[in-house]
Amino acid sequence: ERSLQDFDPAVAAAIGAELDRQRSTLEMIASENFAPAAVLQAQGSVLTNKYAEGYPGRRYYGGCEHVDVLETLALGRAKALFGAQFANVQPHSGAQANAAAMAALIKPGDKILGLSLAHGGHLTHGMRINFSGLLYEVAAYEVSEKDFRVDMDEVARLAREHRPKLVIAGWSAYPRQLDFARFREIADEVGAYLLVDMAHFAGLVAAGLHPSPVPHAHVTTTTTHKTLGGPRGGVILTNDPALAKKVNSAVFPGQQGGPLEHVIAAKAVAFKMAAEPEFAERQRRTLRGAKILAGRLLAEDTAAAGVSVLTGGTDVHLVLADLRDSELDGKQAEDRLHEVGITVNRNAVPFDPRPPMVTSGIRIGTPALATRGFGDEEFREVADIVATALLPEATAQELRDRVAALTDRFPLYPHLGAAR
Ligand code: PLP
Repeated sequence: ERSLQDFDPAVAAAIGAELDRQRSTLEMIASENFAPAAVLQAQGSVLTNKYAEGYPGRRYYGGCEHVDVLETLALGRAKALFGAQFANVQPHSGAQANAAAMAALIKPGDKILGLSLAHGGHLTHGMRINFSGLLYEVAAYEVSEKDFRVDMDEVARLAREHRPKLVIAGWSAYPRQLDFARFREIADEVGAYLLVDMAHFAGLVAAGLHPSPVPHAHVTTTTTHKTLGGPRGGVILTNDPALAKKVNSAVFPGQQGGPLEHVIAAKAVAFKMAAEPEFAERQRRTLRGAKILAGRLLAEDTAAAGVSVLTGGTDVHLVLADLRDSELDGKQAEDRLHEVGITVNRNAVPFDPRPPMVTSGIRIGTPALATRGFGDEEFREVADIVATALLPEATAQELRDRVAALTDRFPLYPHLGAAR
């Protein structure tokens, strides 16, 4: 058998270069993380060869006795981790989990009410050219212009006005917790289902550091690769047996064919890891890191440069830097941080005066660095590097050196050896 390096050096080189990039930069994209070696190992296994349409014990293919064991493990662990009675671990991604959850709950043409993309919602919550906007009629709530938070009275007002069949709570760029109980009350009042998409904060929920939506939502969806730190994929949870049946048939055969059993095995590993005390400790460092970063971005020097933080802080794993009053726009800030070795993404702020490709914000997350081992001391240094990079007089070389000092102290994937 020829190795990847031997058979396809071009692909091997690009993978090696990516490993180098991950090792030598500070990863602060809020939706990213570093999957542990055991997850990578499960995902890179011979399970990739196996067809297993159907569910454990009810497959449409032979030879499923071992993948049945794995998928049953993943299901049991997902349910235990999130306190749900039913789970489906087959969605290939968060977007597919949402597509299947919506297909299970409502019909094409029905109305949905979700957080607008421009205000921190996800594409799958009703964006015009996403399946959610194409299949369903869309109404959207926004954050309040006053404090940039979701105003539940406004959500209630819109729900009464639009009478949606589905209310969606969840976000991709929002630094605060949502009131799931109130969302459920509103959904009940108008006869809608409540779908909570906890993709971003599932790791915090698993660690008991964020309220769980599972008792409140009819259906909860998540990804497994953001704060949860596992393989790329999706999961659907519910406590309602009738909805569980609908969810299962919406995933397969509704949306997908063969499940990715190699990814499901890796999900099982990630759920096991998320139940351990070290995981909760990591999520605590994630939260503290985000608070340290928000605090630093609100200091005098950055404030003088027009930098601020949306909502004045954070309760979660990310900070939304507000650059509306800064000379630097979102694109320039993203580039400037990239230049010093910090990866973030620019992000429109609600009511953004600049165009969508430019934006007036950056979204900065701490999960990946917490996984790398960073604690308060390192996050203080990172926060100072980020803040300094956003000042007009920033000099890249000195900041690059400070980034290198941190990445050198926290080796990533040592078991993978030198990349090239
Ligand atoms: N839901 C939310 C809230 C997200 O932020 C994302 C990803 O950014 C998704 C769903 C989609 O996940 P995926 O990229 O795995 O399709």
